[in-house]
Amino acid sequence: MPGFPCTDCGACCRKAVSLGYMPTRDGVHCLHQVVDDGGRSSCSIYDIRPPLCRVDDGILPRDTDLQTWHQRNAVECDKMQEAEGLGEEWRVGAVGIEPTTSGSVGQRSTVTTSEDEPPAAS
Ligand code: SF4
Ligand code: SF4
Repeated sequence: MPGFPCTDCGACCRKAVSLGYMPTRDGVHCLHQVVDDGGRSSCSIYDIRPPLCRVDDGILPRDTDLQTWHQRNAVECDKMQEAEGLGEEWRVGAVGIEPTTSGSVGQRSTVTTSEDEPPAAS
């Protein structure tokens, strides 16, 4: 099973900041978030990023198989992207996962969008 097909939109990192889970350098982006000229985000501490930033081995309980877990995360990615007004080209579903509408959990190197749950992330 391949890893989560993150499109590097960075929405989950910004969501983590907005929820107060991550420190920020500008009130919007995570302190560790690097954004290139094309809008792609990367993490300057990727190898040691906190559990909330990990889709596959994060802090959220996973009561399902990895494929379903990725689908649920993809749904949340798309929601965060839509909330930010990002274009369709960023959608995780567009790069291989067929998001379901039945789940609502976490993310990335991702983040949950539920206001009362901690973010998760890739
Ligand atoms: S993956 Fe986590 S630590 Fe890295 S930039 Fe995003 S929110 Fe920050
Ligand atoms: S995990 Fe999702 S929201 Fe986060 S950067 Fe990747 S595609 Fe964007």
